Amino acid sequence: MVAGGRAVVLGGGIAGLCAAQALMRRFDDVVLVERDRFPDGPKWRRGVPHSGHAHNLFQSGLAALERLFPGIEDELVAHGIRRVRMPDDVLLLTPGGWMRRFEGRHVMLTGSRELLDWVVRTRIETGGRARIRDGCEVTGVRVDAGEVTGVEVRERNANGDGWGEPAQLAADLVVDATGRHSRAAEWLRRWGYGVPQETVIDSRTVYATCVFKRPDTHDADWESVLIQATTDAPQAGILIPLEGDRWLVSLALVGADRAPAGVKEFREVAERMRSPIIAEALEKAEPLTPVSAYGVTENRWRRFDALDDFPRRLVLVGDSAGYLNPSYSQGVSVAARTAVALDRALAEAPTLDAAVTALREEAGRIFQPAWKLSVGSDLRWLPAVRLPLRGRILQWYMQRLVEVAAHHRRTALALLDALHMTGADTALFHPAVVLAVLRGARGGDVFPTPKPVRRPGKPGDQPGDQARRTT
Ligand SMILES: Cc1cc2nc3c(=O)[nH]c(=O)nc-3n(C[C@H](O)[C@H](O)[C@H](O)COP(=O)(O)OP(=O)(O)OC[C@H]3O[C@@H](n4cnc5c(N)ncnc54)[C@H](O)[C@@H]3O)c2cc1C
Repeated sequence: MVAGGRAVVLGGGIAGLCAAQALMRRFDDVVLVERDRFPDGPKWRRGVPHSGHAHNLFQSGLAALERLFPGIEDELVAHGIRRVRMPDDVLLLTPGGWMRRFEGRHVMLTGSRELLDWVVRTRIETGGRARIRDGCEVTGVRVDAGEVTGVEVRERNANGDGWGEPAQLAADLVVDATGRHSRAAEWLRRWGYGVPQETVIDSRTVYATCVFKRPDTHDADWESVLIQATTDAPQAGILIPLEGDRWLVSLALVGADRAPAGVKEFREVAERMRSPIIAEALEKAEPLTPVSAYGVTENRWRRFDALDDFPRRLVLVGDSAGYLNPSYSQGVSVAARTAVALDRALAEAPTLDAAVTALREEAGRIFQPAWKLSVGSDLRWLPAVRLPLRGRILQWYMQRLVEVAAHHRRTALALLDALHMTGADTALFHPAVVLAVLRGARGGDVFPTPKPVRRPGKPGDQPGDQARRTT
């Protein structure tokens, strides 16, 4: 077991906060350095510009968060975050049609990302065992004889319009959680290490988001709507409940060169999707925000885990090592699970160096299934990418599996397990699932009668109707 010394966490996003919590159990002194000044409540801030878009926390991420911060699920729910059962509470239009709703075993939390971060941050602040230095930027990391020994930081001045003189902060362990714009690869190159191999799969998806007041008259038995894109209709959309009787709607527009310019165009795009159900739900909903856009949505994996030679005492967590197309909602779960793995490595390894090496490999193992799912799905937008035969068969299999999942309970559960990262990697290839996929959408339907769905909209195009027609 590792104990004592000082750990410094770079970045106070969700990955940095979770890592700080894991470190507090083992180090005498934990310092979290964040460039932004943290707001005094659940508010948007510059350093996490994407926080205003739909953020769902899937089950394995929720379990990891609960392990790090016991009781946090109830605390989040007390603040207005919603537990949404999948597929029970979700209208989910897959490429194979509306997924039948049944009593499943998966739950996602929905609510604003700002609220999630604030509740987690408050736990760290009130835990009293980590020093938070916000308004403090990391400008470099020091390495001596192959070992990271500290960081260089500078404080924001009182007016917030400039920086003070750089200062050194010694560390026994440095955790890079600076997110997508991490400079770790550049540091390695400067120190004479190999540069990690980097793979980028970019579906060129533009996100557009608007928050609405949920109409008082809204009466339906669903909590959330998710419309997946197809190659014929490359627009996905999600409606999730937010704390404060609000709905957040994000549209993910594959291959678009820009987001809708305003709420009117946002509604028009929603109307033209594979189903107009989101647009119809929004008809009487008052917009509370302008439309915001976000375009950095590629999958990018920097293979730090595969480098043979790596400076000792440096760890990367969260988006700094790799990130995923947000359409699959997995980044926060990966970050929380990596922090749990950090806790375990520090508890089990005989030395700090051994813990760091173990964590680097484990972080790659945690990221890989999420990467495969996201990239495997995104490759359909990139026909120019020529896959080897095995890859083409796998791609065919996964596309067909998603279609079959709409109508076949066991396949749906396997798919949800993969999405929530709750099952074994092999669950997608269980003989019953393989059989259902090979038989196609017709065979082996074991669903109970779908629950009635009340919603605004035209008669005859209820999700339940369509599901009945296709089976
Ligand atoms: C549009 C969109 C929607 C998403 N939806 C989901 C979802 O539904 N579910 C899900 O699980 N994931 C989702 N994600 C992914 C998720 O947001 C990320 O995986 C997550 O934010 C990663 O957290 P992080 O802490 O690694 O990085 P970040 O959140 O980017 O935090 C990095 C932090 O480091 C700080 N920092 C940077 N440089 C410095 C420096 N030099 N010195 C000091 N501080 C620094 C920044 O200010 C920031 O606070 C989505 C992502 C996007 C883009």
